[in-house]
Amino acid sequence: MQPDSLFYSAMKKPIIILLLGLFSPQLFAQSLQERYRRHIEYLASDDMQGRAAATRYDTLSVAYILAELATIDGLTLLGDGGMQVVPYRARVSREDTTRVPKTTFNVVGLIEAGDPQYRNRTLIMGAHYDHLGVRPVEGVPQIFNGADDNASGTAFIIESARDLAQQRDKLKANVIVILFGGEEAGLVGSRHYANNPLRPIEEVKAMLNFDMLGRMTANGITVRGVGSAKEAFELYGGLKNPDKIDLIFEMRGNGPTDYASFYRVGVPAFSYSTRQHSDYHRHTDTVEKINYEGMEMARNYIWQMVEILAFSNKELRFKDVMD
Ligand SMILES: [Zn+2]
Repeated sequence: MQPDSLFYSAMKKPIIILLLGLFSPQLFAQSLQERYRRHIEYLASDDMQGRAAATRYDTLSVAYILAELATIDGLTLLGDGGMQVVPYRARVSREDTTRVPKTTFNVVGLIEAGDPQYRNRTLIMGAHYDHLGVRPVEGVPQIFNGADDNASGTAFIIESARDLAQQRDKLKANVIVILFGGEEAGLVGSRHYANNPLRPIEEVKAMLNFDMLGRMTANGITVRGVGSAKEAFELYGGLKNPDKIDLIFEMRGNGPTDYASFYRVGVPAFSYSTRQHSDYHRHTDTVEKINYEGMEMARNYIWQMVEILAFSNKELRFKDVMD
C-alpha cells in the first residue's frame, strides 16, 4: 500500500485504519525505542534459537535484516542482494574438534551521499547479528538468546541506517552498514569483509562498531580503539555528555569484537558497548532485561561521532597502537 492511499483511506474510513493498526503496527510511526524493541524481540526470541553461525537460524536472521533494510528508501543493498557469502572453517562441535568448511553471511547496505562530490569517502557502521545458539548448561540444552549480545547492536544499525538514509542529502561521506555473521566464531564475518571489501577499503575514513548496547545499568559506555586515530582524543574530548555517562576509553585496536578486523587493515576503528554484565555469554541474556531508554541515551552520545564522520569532512589519521 502506498502512503498516499493510506492517507486517503484514513481520511475516508478511520475505522479501517484503526483495524489495520491492530494488525500492522509497523505501518504507523513508532518511537525509536519501540523500533529497537521490535527488532530485539524478534531476533532474540526463542524461535531464533540463539542465531548460531551456519545454522538455519543464521539464515533466518539474515532474512529478517534484509527485509528491514529493503524498506529503507535511499539504501542500496550491496553484494548478492545485500548478502556477502562468508566461507570459514570451524570445529564440528565442542566435542569433535575436526575443522570443516562452513558458510555464514554479512548483510551489507550502502547509503550514498546525496551530493556526488562526497561519494569518494565512506564511513562503515557495523554490528554482529549472530550469537551462540543452543548449548548445554549443567547438562540441559539452553537457548542463548543474545538479546544484548548482539540483537541490540543489530537493532541499532538498522535504525541508524533508516535515520542516515533520510538525511542523505546532508551526508558528506557515503555510509556502508554491515551486519556481520560469525563474530562469536572468531570475527569471521568482519575479517572476511575487511579482506574482501565490496567498495574500496582505501575510501573508508573510519569504522564504528556496536557490540552490546542494551544493558546501560550503571550509565556506562566503553569506547574501544581510541588509540587507532591520531585525532581521537581531541574529538572525544569535544563531545557533549549531558546525561553524565560514565565513559571508559580503551586504546587498543585489537579488542575482542569486529572493529579489530578493520584496525588490522589500517582503518581507524572504534567500538561502543554499554559493557559486560553477569548475563554475558549466558542463556540469561534475554529480551526483558534490555534497557531501551539506556539504548537511546547511548545512541545520543554516540551520534555525535556519527555527525563528525558522516556529516562533516573531518578526516582521521590511522595510528598503529600496540594491541
Ligand atoms: Zn558480541
